[in-house]
Amino acid sequence: MTDHIDSLVRGRDAFRIARLALAQMEESQVWPTPLNFELWLYAISDPEGPIGREIYRLVNSGQPLTDAFAEELAVEHLPRLRLTEEIRDAGDQLTRQLAAISSAISVAQISTNEYGRALEGASRELAQPTEPQQLRRVIETLSISTRRIQKENATLETRLASSAEEIKRLRTHLEQVRRDAMTDALTNLANRKAFDDELNRAFEVAHTTGKVLSVGILDIDHFKRFNDTWGHQTGDQVIRYVASLLGKASVHPRFAARYGGEEFAVLFPNEDARTVTAALDALRDDISCRSLKRRSTAEDLGVVTVSAGVATLRAGDTPQTLMERADKALYQSKNAGRNRTTNGETSLAA
Ligand code: GH3
Ligand code: MG
Ligand code: MG
Repeated sequence: MTDHIDSLVRGRDAFRIARLALAQMEESQVWPTPLNFELWLYAISDPEGPIGREIYRLVNSGQPLTDAFAEELAVEHLPRLRLTEEIRDAGDQLTRQLAAISSAISVAQISTNEYGRALEGASRELAQPTEPQQLRRVIETLSISTRRIQKENATLETRLASSAEEIKRLRTHLEQVRRDAMTDALTNLANRKAFDDELNRAFEVAHTTGKVLSVGILDIDHFKRFNDTWGHQTGDQVIRYVASLLGKASVHPRFAARYGGEEFAVLFPNEDARTVTAALDALRDDISCRSLKRRSTAEDLGVVTVSAGVATLRAGDTPQTLMERADKALYQSKNAGRNRTTNGETSLAA
């Protein structure tokens, strides 16, 4: 299935594909709801994929595409809905385990209370002068109660152990789902959601400690040309190449993310705009110092350059205004001819 529907609908063929989707929906008498449209885009981009096969099977058999069917298809195959579904499943399972534990504990409480009463009764009887026969009966009763509570305790232990095991498994699964939700699938860098969360955290820290916080935004130059000349897959390869260098030695961001299609954002707590500008210049050199080869055919892709913008937190900033200033600085770099870094704190003040 196409993982990059997002880039498809921003690519060269975007409008052709969108028009085709609408035309096919009209022809098949399917309402152009947002969900149907999204499913149809997947079907067109990959007719042999799971969504494409299901949709075309339905259309060819003359059956209607109902809302319920569209929902089912979406939950099963659309990445973002699949994630929500997984979280919901794990949540349901966790709720069931908690209910099981709580009922097991209630049963155990009742048994313990009963056992307590049996002990009390026995001690009352034993407080009086006791015949050997009576004594034997008391002991028998006590030993029956004791055996029963031992058995119940063992059952409770087994149940708790299996619930603990299940909860551990769910926790690992949820951690994985959470990691996936925060990771960009193409580059393995943090995604925009993760970056925004981290930025908010860093902003709070800088706000309370008064320490410096800088951000950088990078954007690949003339990236559309790569896509148009070599196709999306090679475009993706270029994005991955830049992402891989973001993690390398020339730049020490505490946090680097894929911010959008061919845009990256980096967070530099405790570093000022000048240091960050120098770090990003070194990174840019690193990116542009080698000529890339197309993986499938070994053709020469030439050199990739990036433009960057840097901003540092000022009094009165919000995370948004900080990012906006970095973005403005980035566009200054673009306007000034690309392949450069603009320090937003000096350029805009000047
Ligand atoms: P500039 O130097 O001004 O940044 O020019 P540009 O061509 O890089 O900028 P523009 O914003 O016009 O084009 C960005 C392109 O990136 C458009 C879109 O098709 C493409 N794109 C976005 N996401 C992806 C992706 O995940 N994969 C690929 N291959 N292309 C993508
Ligand atoms: Mg861009
Ligand atoms: Mg670009």
